[in-house]
Amino acid sequence: MHPFILERPRDINAAVALGAQSGRNDAPVEYIAGGTDMVQLLQENVRRPDRLVSLAGLLDNRIEAGPQGLRLGAAATMAEVAAHPGVIEHFPVVSESLLNSASPQVRNQATMGGNLLQRTRCPYFRDVGYAACNKRAPDSGCAAMDGENRWHAVLGTSENCIAVHPSDLAVALVALDASIEIQDAGGEHSVPLADLHRLPGNTPHIETILQAGEVITAITVPASPAARRSHYLKVRDRASFEFAVVSAAVVLDMDGDRIRQARIALGGVAPKPWRVPDVEAALAGVSLDPAELRPAAARVAEGAQGRGHNDFKIELMQRAIVLAVETAGARA
Ligand SMILES: Cc1cc2nc3c(=O)[nH]c(=O)nc-3n(C[C@H](O)[C@H](O)[C@H](O)COP(=O)(O)OP(=O)(O)OC[C@H]3O[C@@H](n4cnc5c(N)ncnc54)[C@H](O)[C@@H]3O)c2cc1C
Ligand code: SF4
Repeated sequence: MHPFILERPRDINAAVALGAQSGRNDAPVEYIAGGTDMVQLLQENVRRPDRLVSLAGLLDNRIEAGPQGLRLGAAATMAEVAAHPGVIEHFPVVSESLLNSASPQVRNQATMGGNLLQRTRCPYFRDVGYAACNKRAPDSGCAAMDGENRWHAVLGTSENCIAVHPSDLAVALVALDASIEIQDAGGEHSVPLADLHRLPGNTPHIETILQAGEVITAITVPASPAARRSHYLKVRDRASFEFAVVSAAVVLDMDGDRIRQARIALGGVAPKPWRVPDVEAALAGVSLDPAELRPAAARVAEGAQGRGHNDFKIELMQRAIVLAVETAGARA
């Protein structure tokens, strides 16, 4: 492990000032919250900061959930949010995404902010034994392109990187049109969560819009009566303690037995939580009959590109959408 200095700033302003001394991704100064992802990356030599700035004790951990909307302090843990009665009742898709993530031990430690910013599970990124990884070492190539790419993306990729974003929670929140609050030296501002993560393009090592020193302080979701009829479906290689092969978060507004509006985001298929506006538009006015849902779900395949081992995801994501919509629609 690369040696580093652990900074324990007095307050959030001091943390922002320390963080602002870094550049963007893979810079000499990094934040650490619950540490469940960061410590692995330090141990594996993937991250090599000179200074690690602890956010422990500096951020809000309150949870507010009800008909008025959802507000999650960035320090709230995955376990606390998953078990919150207001989240379970009004935003089941959030609770389900968290309960389907990681293990109880990890969920007790990991925070909301860290969850959104966890790094990809691409095995070539996480093993420095592979030289070619544009995300870890810019302009070094991409070992996954002609390598083992079963877990990789079929949407939103570039010739430089085909890694998927790993967070289940982020997928659920993007389907809910969530925003994040960000603190920097100038104060706080809010951005749609859907804009946080960037597509890889020519710079896969720059994963988010966050600038040096910026800290996520909270996640908010506006009042959303339809969110009670929501569901997170996760398809994975084993029943627990596994990342998504494909996932679908669905929020349904019903008009009798027909869909008035569907909001859908996919996980496991793209470098960021992937909204599917064409599918959402095609679902408006249809019933929950799978025969009607399937043609709408098929729209997601337009523009999808497999790389060999992951070709099956193009069919699987359509099936996941159909099943997730049926399940959400069956909710009272
Ligand atoms: C064995 C295992 C299995 C897992 N399975 C799943 C799974 O199935 N699904 C899933 O979604 N996740 C899974 N995870 C990932 C887990 O959810 C993340 O490790 C965790 O959520 C990260 O939160 P943390 O607080 O520990 O972040 P940290 O590890 O402390 O930080 C992660 C990143 O976020 C940055 N950061 C943290 N907080 C902030 C903030 N407030 N503002 C700005 N930057 C910040 C850090 O600088 C770092 O880059 C798994 C992890 C493990 C170890
Ligand atoms: S897919 Fe992205 S993260 Fe994985 S090896 Fe290629 S460049 Fe690296």
